[in-house]
Amino acid sequence: MAVRLEPHRSIPEAVVLRNARILDPRSGDIAAPQSIMTRDGRIEEISSSTRTVSGAVEVDAGGFTVLPGLIDSHAHVTQSSGDFQEILSWTPDYHAARTARVLHEMLLRGFTLVRDMGGADNGLARAVDERLLTAPRLKAGGPIFAPTGGHALTEVVDGEVEIRRAFRARFRDGADHIKMTLSGGVISKMRLEALAFSEEEILAAVDEARLAQRYIAAHVYTAEAVSRALRLGVRTIEHGNLLDEECIRLFLEKDAYYVPTLATYWAILSGATGHGLAPEKRAAVQDIFERGLESISLAASAGVKIGYGTDLHGEGLPFQLEEFRLRARVQEPLEIIRSATIVGAEIVGESGKAGIVEEGAYADLIAVDGDPLSDIGVLADASSRRIIMSGGDLLPLP
Ligand code: ZN
Ligand code: ZN
Repeated sequence: MAVRLEPHRSIPEAVVLRNARILDPRSGDIAAPQSIMTRDGRIEEISSSTRTVSGAVEVDAGGFTVLPGLIDSHAHVTQSSGDFQEILSWTPDYHAARTARVLHEMLLRGFTLVRDMGGADNGLARAVDERLLTAPRLKAGGPIFAPTGGHALTEVVDGEVEIRRAFRARFRDGADHIKMTLSGGVISKMRLEALAFSEEEILAAVDEARLAQRYIAAHVYTAEAVSRALRLGVRTIEHGNLLDEECIRLFLEKDAYYVPTLATYWAILSGATGHGLAPEKRAAVQDIFERGLESISLAASAGVKIGYGTDLHGEGLPFQLEEFRLRARVQEPLEIIRSATIVGAEIVGESGKAGIVEEGAYADLIAVDGDPLSDIGVLADASSRRIIMSGGDLLPLP
């Protein structure tokens, strides 16, 4: 029998947040002040009651806006360096320690759930669930899969048999999803327009995911690659900067999700990452960034379900909240808040449990100073955080 370790600091069994003005991302309303009582990591009761709960920690949220904990649907928590050769030189233990730091910092920004899109394995998600780390809950899929010659950093598979074998092993080991690269990348040896994997290979992958009751996420850029992925049954489209009307039609028909990642291009353009990038590559990044804004605008006005993604690495990681500001160029604050809460929860199959502050949901929430519905900067700026609660645990803020 495995011995479970105690969490490294004590977590209150029950907490009562007083005077909490809760923002509901579904309706866009901010309710009158209420008390939120959490117990054993869940929200047990939301009411106007002022009774004291024996043994509960009391916190005053008066004057702040309470939101669900944020969800980043495209992160790389294991990529704390932008230099992949350097990462490969790390021992597994050192790598894990670096990752623990990345996760803690994400939580301090208010992210209480993160979907890793390549790198993190199920062991890390387990360590978070067992509270060995102070970290957001994690959805992990293991390595990214690409064909020979494809855009990827991790595992190469060719042909239906190899795909089925590799994916069965991944799902057996607890992968929540698997990400495949179905086209080239902006900074990649494989041309952006090039398509990766045959239709038969993609169908085999989608079939394995269906059998495991999981799903396939795809790295894709061009309209052709996005449409092909959606037609073949891919559930989440990552990046997808070059959408056209046919893509929009397929998103709606297939009930699929769009996860743009503007922050990663912005990190390059602002000089935080991508040092030593050739001028023509930089121009390509600028173009893909602008086309990404246009695609979000197109998708949002058609009612496509859009998740909040960032896709940051190394020196770019501190810009995880910048995506709020970037999207505000083409979207209203409430739409962006929905992306980072209720839509993120749908993507990982946790509707009603994550991305919402209501009875029965995880006790994952943040209280911010200001009204993010009128000023999205309140969410884009980590210093507005006054309370961060993750699974009922109140985080000490710096
Ligand atoms: Zn990608
Ligand atoms: Zn990525």
